[in-house]
Amino acid sequence: MTERLAAAQLDRAASLLHDGALVAFPTETVYGLGGDAVSDRAVAAIFAAKERPTFNPLIVHVADLAAAEKLAVFDERACAIAGRFWPGPLTLVLKRSTACPISRLASAGLETVALRAPAHPLAQALLRATGRPLAAPSANRSGHVSPTTADHVLDELGGRIAAVLDGGPCRVGIESTVIDLSEAQPALLRPGGVTREQLEAVLGHLGDTGHAGAPRSPGMLERHYATARPLRLAATTVAPDEALLAFGDPLLGAAVTFNLSPTRDLTEAAANLFAALRALDQARFKAIAVMPIPETGLGAAINDRLRRAARGRAN
Ligand code: AMP
Ligand code: MG
Repeated sequence: MTERLAAAQLDRAASLLHDGALVAFPTETVYGLGGDAVSDRAVAAIFAAKERPTFNPLIVHVADLAAAEKLAVFDERACAIAGRFWPGPLTLVLKRSTACPISRLASAGLETVALRAPAHPLAQALLRATGRPLAAPSANRSGHVSPTTADHVLDELGGRIAAVLDGGPCRVGIESTVIDLSEAQPALLRPGGVTREQLEAVLGHLGDTGHAGAPRSPGMLERHYATARPLRLAATTVAPDEALLAFGDPLLGAAVTFNLSPTRDLTEAAANLFAALRALDQARFKAIAVMPIPETGLGAAINDRLRRAARGRAN
């Protein structure tokens, strides 16, 4: 049985984590599946609960820059970026420091580690109460849509993890931006809650994946964020046996409609995205038609997740 813990039961969550158990917790992006990042056993248990391939490294969460500096090499750029965007929806891939205690499995054998200081008050309180870095990938089974409520987590991982700390729905609703600062050329590995435009204001032009050939972020190869029903992107019409994921004035004639944001607000749309995909992914619909969403700001991250979900169906 997976316990559902209220915010007031934070100490119980911290003590479970201390004992090496897995506890899902809310961040401002999505719910994370937390485990002690220093413990090989806890990290291995995260991979097992998610059925995640072990070549795909995990994001390690810390309370702040001071805690992060013990784990990785922060150059001037990394300090500037962390100073500007932490705590917040941004993950930095950096070289592991020589004494880095993080489980090698969390880094999937790479010489780098992905670090993030989340802004959610419960995540912050949990990190401070446990006093150790927490590995926390999204709290869904591998290849599924990320959870933005405690109920989603229980649907995905109920019976497989010790507890979920319930902090209500996530504010941002889409995963963190991942930026690689481990090499001279910074690269945006995953669009997310902090936009490319915001990062480029500090770093100048950003490349996408770094080197030609091997992608720097193994997770980007994975089938991800998939729905069981096919997604039909950039729909300008909708059929009566389709569900509609609308943005702005909805197309008429769908079996059912979930509007991400009637006022075309991208922040609201990102916050609603994963709950909408879950709600519309039902056997009675032939497909999910998705209205076009602008590629600017948070729209880039929303479209990235939608394209990935649509592609996932193809393999
Ligand atoms: P998730 O933990 O499910 O939010 O996904 C984390 C993302 O960060 C995946 O795409 C990982 O491949 C990526 N990631 C984590 N650690 C590293 C790393 N050391 N180098 C490159 N990408 C990483
Ligand atoms: Mg994930």
